[in-house]
Amino acid sequence: MPMPHCPRLESLGPAPCSFVTSLYNPAFALLFLLDSMPAQIIDGNLLAQQLRADVARRAAALSAKGKQPGLAVILVGDDPASQVYVRNKVKACEDNGLYSLLEKYDAQMSEAELLARIDALNKDPKIHGILVQMPLPKHIDPQKVIEAISPRKDVDGYSVLSAGEMMTGLPGFRPCTPYGCMKLIESTGVNLKGKHAVVIGRSNTVGKPMALLLLQANATVTICHSGTPDLAYHTRQADVVVAAVGRRNTLTADMIKPGAIVIDVGINRNDEGKLCGDVDFANAKEVAGYITPVPGGVGPLTITMLLVNTLEAAEREPG
Ligand code: NAP
Repeated sequence: MPMPHCPRLESLGPAPCSFVTSLYNPAFALLFLLDSMPAQIIDGNLLAQQLRADVARRAAALSAKGKQPGLAVILVGDDPASQVYVRNKVKACEDNGLYSLLEKYDAQMSEAELLARIDALNKDPKIHGILVQMPLPKHIDPQKVIEAISPRKDVDGYSVLSAGEMMTGLPGFRPCTPYGCMKLIESTGVNLKGKHAVVIGRSNTVGKPMALLLLQANATVTICHSGTPDLAYHTRQADVVVAAVGRRNTLTADMIKPGAIVIDVGINRNDEGKLCGDVDFANAKEVAGYITPVPGGVGPLTITMLLVNTLEAAEREPG
């Protein structure tokens, strides 16, 4: 009897003979049924809630010893999206027992003034993490600002030192979005050893650190970008795809290997003005094994990992 086409089974590799030959085998029947099922949706809100509960517990323990973890958030200018982001970060601190300090400055603030504020916060014992919201006004050099933050307080993980620590596998702060993506992947229970991961996007804040973290987890990693001639060729071979582009429908169902883990980092708007990611979610979930939605996938993890980094900065601080 010929084998029916069963892509998720094929993705598991060659089947044992007895398994292939008997269509009446209950295990086969179950897997065949699973093949026609849509992907498991990875619930970022739920995972974030669990991780934040752990942050709150550890923050309370530190506070009881007189060392409440503290995050300083600096916003320069009045970019509306940035205003929302900083508000959410401050609220997440308050909700989970971290001290937060929000400093807002007008867009005319000079680079020297900003660097002086960072210097003062570097020396402030109540502050364990410093975050300067990007983008900054054009007259301020963002790299100069990032490098001014003490390495002990670089909870965004954007400095050259933090990047080097990640590259060499040393302990340090991992950039929050890719770090959160790793937590989402871990939550599936799939071991990345021997798996092929494809990252779409190579920014310093998402794509490149994402690829390094996947590599550290023993995946074989391919990085794609705007110069990649045949994106689908790569993604169709991937057990894990992370899409971090910022263009909707970059990853469609026909580009996904059946059963793959799909992590959607993108934030876009569809024709109706609704939030959507880089992945054609409605169709992709019929092919993938696990998939993150937008909203409710990567987003909640990004702020959560900022809390984790701030907490760990305080835990590492002697005294
Ligand atoms: P970015 O700096 O603009 O980088 C986008 C990357 O996508 C670039 O490396 C670019 O390649 C690549 N790219 C563009 N068009 C492509 C194509 N057709 N095929 C393959 N690759 C292509 O953006 P980012 O900061 O990494 O962010 C990516 C997305 O994630 C955005 O939508 C952003 O809003 C979102 N994001 C979400 C969160 C969250 O918490 N959910 C956090 C951060 C970012 P080149 O390098 O060749 O130009």
